[in-house]
Amino acid sequence: MLLDRRTFAAGSAALLSGCATVGGRPRTFAGCTPLAPVSVDESRVIRTVAGLRPYRASGFVVRREPLGDKALVHNYGHGGGGITLSWGSSKLATELGLQGHNGPVAVIGAGVMGLSTARLVQEAGFPVTIYTAALPPDTTSNIAGGQFHPFAVFREGQVTPEFMTQFRRAVDYSWRRFQIMAGDDYGVRWLPTYVETDTPEAQVIANFPPVNRLLTAAEHPFPWASALRYDTIYVETGRYLRQMIRDVQIAGGKIEVRSFASPANLAGLAETLIFNCTGLGSRDLFGDQELHPIRGQLAILEPQPEIRYAALGEFGYMFPRGDGILLGGTFERDVFDATPQPADIARIVASHKRFFEGFRCTA
Ligand SMILES: Cc1cc2nc3c(=O)[nH]c(=O)nc-3n(C[C@H](O)[C@H](O)[C@H](O)COP(=O)(O)OP(=O)(O)OC[C@H]3O[C@@H](n4cnc5c(N)ncnc54)[C@H](O)[C@@H]3O)c2cc1C
Repeated sequence: MLLDRRTFAAGSAALLSGCATVGGRPRTFAGCTPLAPVSVDESRVIRTVAGLRPYRASGFVVRREPLGDKALVHNYGHGGGGITLSWGSSKLATELGLQGHNGPVAVIGAGVMGLSTARLVQEAGFPVTIYTAALPPDTTSNIAGGQFHPFAVFREGQVTPEFMTQFRRAVDYSWRRFQIMAGDDYGVRWLPTYVETDTPEAQVIANFPPVNRLLTAAEHPFPWASALRYDTIYVETGRYLRQMIRDVQIAGGKIEVRSFASPANLAGLAETLIFNCTGLGSRDLFGDQELHPIRGQLAILEPQPEIRYAALGEFGYMFPRGDGILLGGTFERDVFDATPQPADIARIVASHKRFFEGFRCTA
């Protein structure tokens, strides 16, 4: 089943959208605030990607347990919000692991969770080695759109109060950490986000998202019955993960490409503290059958630097980045094949083309 990002998150029916095109040309309305439209065409697609979100209905796992004479701390299962939660979830994990620990530390996995965990371990003064089956750019984290928003992280009614405390603490720490990384070096920037909805975003924590208000028709160009604007941070994941690897290495961290088939393999490591940051890999490695893939597919268009806003609605979602304009997306449960499907990509491109050609006025 294909679901758009907001429908998945809200579990609500698709919203109605209006169209203001006449003979294929955008009409200009009085009292319409213009924005530059994305130029959508099959010929502008520069690459297509698909990735598997590591989703658990009861939320991510940050837990400490013994592994023989070692300590094992899990940090996996962040669904569609792993970039968002990375710093905060890793902070919770390192708090559980590092207390009372002496000596070198092992981190399994080099996605966003493994790299943030490794950095926090180093910041606390411990030597670290990352053991990983694959490195960026070959991780799910590289596929992510990179919006700071905890979408599709758990299912309402299936989480414990204890998890919700962890979740809010993770969002809070991450939110503060990403703010101080804004800039070209990490590929982190603020953008206004426009959403096709008549409901403001739920406040996950007190200061997120800032600017969260319904707009009048005069305040936007979109062909929507109602529109919301909120502001948030966007991460250009390729650039970000590259920089995170450099940070780990500059601080003396080692990286070893190595795959583990079972917890018994981990017991052979020299380190006595191990962080498990294997994402969807934890399904096989630790037999966590609650962990399910949700496939997401993206069509990426040639960059358009004048696009300085993101948009989400019934048409899908558009995040503009330096490495291309991302058009999403799909939420396909229990699909294990991370290969873009031409028919789905064609549908994503077509719905975005209709949307951007329907602007009521343009800059
Ligand atoms: C299309 C799409 C869009 C997304 N958009 C967003 C977004 O806008 N915002 C957001 O916050 N999140 C988003 N996400 C979600 C986000 O990508 C994930 O939650 C996040 O990347 C998970 O990170 P991770 O480090 O846990 O896993 P991964 O990136 O999968 O890293 C896991 C690491 O563990 C290693 N590994 C696995 N198994 C083993 C093993 N047995 N032995 C050794 N190493 C192993 C892997 O090689 C890899 O290095 C999106 C995801 C997709 C697919």
